[in-house]
Amino acid sequence: MNFNHYIRDVENFPSEGITFKDITPLLQHEKAFKASAMALLNLVPKTPIDKVIGMESRGFFYGPLLAMELNAGFVPVRKAGKLPFEKVSQTYDLEYGTDTLEIHKDSIIEGERILIHDDVLATGGTAEAVCALVEKLGGTIVQCNFLIELEFLKGKEKLKGHEVRSLIQY
Ligand code: AMP
Repeated sequence: MNFNHYIRDVENFPSEGITFKDITPLLQHEKAFKASAMALLNLVPKTPIDKVIGMESRGFFYGPLLAMELNAGFVPVRKAGKLPFEKVSQTYDLEYGTDTLEIHKDSIIEGERILIHDDVLATGGTAEAVCALVEKLGGTIVQCNFLIELEFLKGKEKLKGHEVRSLIQY
């Protein structure tokens, strides 16, 4: 199946000069949605995974599906101030300013094997921050897994030392 067909480019969203990769056509198509979830799963190494980490908010679409199929737990990483319990934080640079991501302290047990998932790998800042959160809690990162990689932004360079896989590349 050609998944590209179900990714919509939206020009100048959320700001001027950005081409937004809209995955809602993929999500809303019953056959393409299931096939893409299974194809993402096939990218994951056949080794035990204890937890799948999904980034707010578009990492929440496929993350729990992957966790279910891998017999793993699902852990949300959220923007600052959204998680109710004790948490650890990581601040990272954006084009203008900074942002902070958080994870619950008790969501990873030291030594657990972790799959990180998000919809899009762009500059890699978000995924790098999530890797730092996982490592602060003592998790072992098995793979950083994305639906889409924007290769021209070289996000992989920020994730050196980690296995990075994506289903669709631009
Ligand atoms: P980055 O930290 O630059 O790798 O950006 C990754 C995050 O921003 C992901 O959570 C994506 O959902 C979102 N993102 C960045 N660029 C795009 C884009 N062109 N289209 C859709 N989402 C994007």
